[in-house]
Amino acid sequence: MKILIYPHEILRQEARPVERIDGEFQGLIDRMLEMMYKAKGVGLAANQIGELTQLVVMDITPAEDGPNPIVLINPRITELEGEEVGEEGCLSVPNYVAPVKRALRLHLTGYDRNEKEVRIEAEGLLARCIQHELDHLKGICFVDRLNPVRKVLFRKKWPKIRPREE
Ligand code: ZN
Repeated sequence: MKILIYPHEILRQEARPVERIDGEFQGLIDRMLEMMYKAKGVGLAANQIGELTQLVVMDITPAEDGPNPIVLINPRITELEGEEVGEEGCLSVPNYVAPVKRALRLHLTGYDRNEKEVRIEAEGLLARCIQHELDHLKGICFVDRLNPVRKVLFRKKWPKIRPREE
């Protein structure tokens, strides 16, 4: 299992809702957390490892204060508010960061790994991270959200900096 690199076709596909949280699914959650920490990312969506299922893992805590993993299953954003431009990167687009406009605050509902309903009110980095990861579940990568000029620059630059497939 490895992290798929942009523009892998699976990164363009929509994830399906999770219907059953069984032992196998718990194993998937653990593997994703492990991969995210190993890659030093703050978030990972199941699409990024080739699983089209509505699961994201995140941890925005600085390494020295963590770990503080957040697992979200079938997440839905119910409110978006404000606007903020901030730098983003992605484990599927390594060695590249660029500013992206996102909502500043949001409300989210979903389920944790114990099938308990969770409600999150987030802002700042957590809100940005949630929007980025939930985009993945819809088949959207952050580079799709760059402004038109940056998009052109990215398309020129990416073939030169992208990692070679193993
Ligand atoms: Zn990403």
